[in-house]
Amino acid sequence: MKILVTGGSGYIGSHTVHELLNAGHEVVVMDNLANSSEESLRRVAELTGKQAEFHQVDLLDPEGMKKLFRDTRPEAVIHFAGLKAVGESAEKPLWYYQTNVAGTLNLLYAMEEVDCKTIVFSSSATVYGEPEEMPLTEKINMDAQSCYGRTKEHIEDMLRDLGASDASWNIALLRYFNPVGAHESGRIGEDPAGIPNNLVPFIAQVAVGRREHLNVFGNDYPTVDGTGVRDYIHVVDLANGHLKALEYLASHGGLHTWNLGTGNGYSVLEVLHAFEKACGKELPYKIVDRRPGDVAVSYADPSSALADLGWSAERDIDTMVRDHWNWQKNNPNGYEA
Ligand code: NAD
Ligand code: UDP
Repeated sequence: MKILVTGGSGYIGSHTVHELLNAGHEVVVMDNLANSSEESLRRVAELTGKQAEFHQVDLLDPEGMKKLFRDTRPEAVIHFAGLKAVGESAEKPLWYYQTNVAGTLNLLYAMEEVDCKTIVFSSSATVYGEPEEMPLTEKINMDAQSCYGRTKEHIEDMLRDLGASDASWNIALLRYFNPVGAHESGRIGEDPAGIPNNLVPFIAQVAVGRREHLNVFGNDYPTVDGTGVRDYIHVVDLANGHLKALEYLASHGGLHTWNLGTGNGYSVLEVLHAFEKACGKELPYKIVDRRPGDVAVSYADPSSALADLGWSAERDIDTMVRDHWNWQKNNPNGYEA
């Protein structure tokens, strides 16, 4: 199948492009390179022996998007492109709504024009907000607590309305839990710009000597050791979930929503200790105040994805941190030479 991947040079995108090429798909990547570099795709080509076609286009350029679809005529889209930093979204809400929501509108208009009506969308567990119930099932109402999360809610709503208006659209909303890790080769991985917001990239930079210590945001949560609990998922398992969703959409129309997580929760200190085991050294940390907006515990009920897609995560926490460390130690400054 010919698949257009928006944001395909980014972290999850590049791993998904790798899996798509290996599975024999033809891949077109569009990205404006705001948070990635083409080096990731060069390495994907080196790993797979196959090349994705790259177009530097901005989601916010409606004519550029239409031209891209007219020129490339994909059969399906996987839509990763967008902004993803919770803190930044509170400071620049209009930029987040414009890029994520208006950018997705441009994409959908461009798709419609060439009758490309299959889309897999990167949603997030953050749409659940702070529910009492755990694990999180897809039935729980959305109640995002951040501007970033609300952009995901808006896009989900937009896609739901679109699917309801026209049954020929095939739509998958994938709600990711916490993607970590890297391809086992250590050639592609997560390369955050500036100070990492997320736990595992931060720990990895402590391990490689780029940061002095980890700040642990709170140790008075009602959890196993007082630190926050999350459902970490290996990025390659996550990437494979997209291939399964595409396969499903090829034979089932309509709109479908799936959690992609492992169903297991790990605390901040458990993840830190797993990473210490992987890198063979003790990693310094300090307990600091809770981070505003953080929930104590979040983990998925991934049973719908198993039932419908035959998908479940295969890689455990030790594999996740091993692969993350392998990437970081081989590329201490990310893709920068
Ligand atoms: P990423 O930043 O590595 O990838 C996003 C890509 O989109 C980047 O390559 C960036 O250059 C591109 N992009 C940004 N604005 C663009 C624009 N205006 N036009 C074209 N391209 C643009 O992020 P990621 O971690 O790979 O995340 C991919 C998707 O998954 C995002 O939509 C994110 O919200 C979602 N998601 C990520 C996580 C996570 O923890 N990484 C969790 C849940 C959901
Ligand atoms: N966390 C932390 N220190 C950091 C980054 C994160 O203690 O430098 C904690 C955070 O409070 C949460 C967990 O690690 O309990 C995962 O945070 P992350 O930002 O990776 O994911 P999210 O909060 O979006 O689930």
